[in-house]
Amino acid sequence: MFASVIVSVNSKDVNRLFDYKIPEHLLDVIKIGHRVFVPFGPRHVQAYVMSIHSESDVPKDKVKEIVKVMDVEPVLTEELIELSKKLSNYYIEPYISIIETILPAALKVKSKKVLKLNDSATAEAKFMYDSLVKRGVLETKSLTSKELHSLLPYIKTEEIYEDIEIKQHTRKKTQKAVISNYLNKASLERAPKQLEALHVIEESSEPILVSDLKDQGYSEGIIRELEKKGYLKKIDQVVERDPFDNKIFERDEVKTLTPEQARAFEEINHDVKTHQANTYLLHGVTGSGKTEVYLQLIQTVLDQGEDAIMLVPEIALTPQMVNRFKARFGDDVAVLHSALSHGEKYDEWRKISDGRARVTVGARSSIFAPFKKLGIIIIDEEHETTYKQSERPMYHAKEVAKLRAKYHSCPVVLGSATPSLESYARSEKGVYKRFELLERPNMQPHPVATIVDMAEEHKNGNSGILSRKLEDAIRDRIEKNEQTVLLLNRRGFANFQICQNCGHVPQCPNCDISLTYHKSNGSLMCHYCGYEEGIKRQCADCSSTEVTFRGTGTEKVEEILRDTFLTDVVRMDVDTTKNKGTHEALLDRFEKDEIPILLGTQMIAKGLDYPKVTLVGVLNSDTMLNLPDFRANERTFQLLTQVAGRAGRHQLAGEVIFQTYNPEHYAVTLAQDNNYREFYEKEMSYRRFARYSPYYFHVLFTVSSESVEDCLKATTDIYQTLVASVSDQTYIIGPSPSPIERIKNKHRFQILLKYKREPKLLEVLTLLDKKYTDLYKKMGLSLKIDVDPQFI
Ligand code: ADP
Ligand code: ZN
Ligand code: ZN
Repeated sequence: MFASVIVSVNSKDVNRLFDYKIPEHLLDVIKIGHRVFVPFGPRHVQAYVMSIHSESDVPKDKVKEIVKVMDVEPVLTEELIELSKKLSNYYIEPYISIIETILPAALKVKSKKVLKLNDSATAEAKFMYDSLVKRGVLETKSLTSKELHSLLPYIKTEEIYEDIEIKQHTRKKTQKAVISNYLNKASLERAPKQLEALHVIEESSEPILVSDLKDQGYSEGIIRELEKKGYLKKIDQVVERDPFDNKIFERDEVKTLTPEQARAFEEINHDVKTHQANTYLLHGVTGSGKTEVYLQLIQTVLDQGEDAIMLVPEIALTPQMVNRFKARFGDDVAVLHSALSHGEKYDEWRKISDGRARVTVGARSSIFAPFKKLGIIIIDEEHETTYKQSERPMYHAKEVAKLRAKYHSCPVVLGSATPSLESYARSEKGVYKRFELLERPNMQPHPVATIVDMAEEHKNGNSGILSRKLEDAIRDRIEKNEQTVLLLNRRGFANFQICQNCGHVPQCPNCDISLTYHKSNGSLMCHYCGYEEGIKRQCADCSSTEVTFRGTGTEKVEEILRDTFLTDVVRMDVDTTKNKGTHEALLDRFEKDEIPILLGTQMIAKGLDYPKVTLVGVLNSDTMLNLPDFRANERTFQLLTQVAGRAGRHQLAGEVIFQTYNPEHYAVTLAQDNNYREFYEKEMSYRRFARYSPYYFHVLFTVSSESVEDCLKATTDIYQTLVASVSDQTYIIGPSPSPIERIKNKHRFQILLKYKREPKLLEVLTLLDKKYTDLYKKMGLSLKIDVDPQFI
């Protein structure tokens, strides 16, 4: 028997199946979807079994044998194998890169050749070997040539694999627990603290953790004394690693659905029960009860013995959503997010593939959760850009969802207050079925928004970052003991440093972008490549000392707010939330300590739901409008609508203030009116006129290199290939420099393809990829093909 495998080597040259013989002793073991190790060139590499058959085209004397199988149960189901083929074609990516995206990183194993003693080892060799082993695993490269020389006759090499399955036992952490051992405590009367500790231990019905005991004020010393005297015994207690360890979830009651909710629920529920793969769009403002509908649909799925995937843009930003899921479905829920370690991710993955978890709540990659009987896939905030991976493979979770749903015959539900134009257009055409949720069962009506023209403010002598209206409103909330959320989509202190004498602005040496001033560490930083330099008091160009800072970032606004209102401020941006758990800690502080103001970049626009927030201010509504991207208006409208939804979610009514230099722009005025429909129509007419998505599909080719000439030459080659192959209804825009031409010292040029129907697309893309990807790599160029790009 032979197995056709995909090897874990990332090169286009090996993007095909290789046949290996299944050795006799593994005939009944190896199945499709198993991870195996195979000889490949001089090495053994990991590979995935894609199919098994009795014939092979490889000549008998050439075919090699599989050396090892890594799993008890296959890690890839037939569904996921099929899925990886489809995605590989659609996104022009090697199979292996898709497969290793589908599986948790921990399943990627490296093999190592280690040195072991052979049978002829002398006592002297054994002694030397043992002393060398103390340094760690023995590999050829870890020995000096002298050591190697003297050991050589007595050693042999052996291949070992650092596999998580092998290390399974380390998945669980052991903690010391103590139990009481004796009843007679007479001799402890003179050590009251020890006696007390013993009482605490005895009162607990289970062994008590040493760490808990310490938390209660009984030191290691006390425990050691008691142990020595024989009053207690330490035992090892195994605890499963669980990121939600010490959390208690309140019960979350099933609500009686409103007529609007019920209409959507009934129809989708019918699909769940009859196994139909329709896609639904649930269009409803925040607070209109979408999540309640999701929860009840998932209940049906579970009752049928099936599983559910729920995608959210980013777990760390939506703790409240996770809590609701945990509260309703308890241990059936696995939570997958980017902050988990490889090991923790693997644990959650295992829980799913073993069938111990039935629902997963997670970010983009949890669309690959290895469920075997999917009953529903839900994508909340479906318009979010995080659903498309920005690195290769640049897959979109929505596309993956539709493929998986088709395989499992189950519905997909997309939910949003501001659907992407693509999804809404599909619902208009009837491709997706749409439901509107207009009421907010539990909340105030959508808050009233005001627009403040900042140019007017400046004319009237206020050059600050806060308009008078916003300043007054904040003061009013502080007096009433209510809370304010402020959005400023720009981190750092000042936007840039400028010389008042010659106008010089310090630039990143690696990128075509000016450096941002960060006061906290006294440096100028590049937000694209991380380059950092100390600030200079002198202009690098003309040596003038008249340098100043322009533009305002969150760091500076935090200072201004503290000075103006003499209150505490919670600031949330990439710089304050670098470490695991800091998001939650900051939000916790804002809520529990009733800090009057939460200031942040767009990460605060999502999911927050605090009863005392009655004011939302957007300091600069134009940051997004000015982006060089055809979706700039859409992103502005989405962000403003979303952040406005943070105000007045409970008993107290909310107020929203948008500060802008474009008070008449429809993305701003229609967000003020919360009028999605009109925004959709206006924006669609612009898209039609400019031939953009959803009227056209796009493929973006980006070539990057240290040499401008190479970029130009490569993009010209691609251009010519495209012109010669695609139909004349397909538009080819470019070659042109990318919006930021140079990042990390690489120049970037691009070509944009716009098409409605391009029968030859797959063929052309495959051709270009074959012809250029490896060739360019050798020349130090890189070609990126982005199918359905998010940013253009
Ligand atoms: P969304 O997901 O659209 O933001 P949610 O499902 O979170 O909306 O609902 C908003 C609030 O209204 C929540 O506190 C939720 O518990 C409550 N809610 C939702 N549906 C109902 C209902 N049918 N009856 C009463 N309260 C509801
Ligand atoms: Zn100067
Ligand atoms: Zn840079």
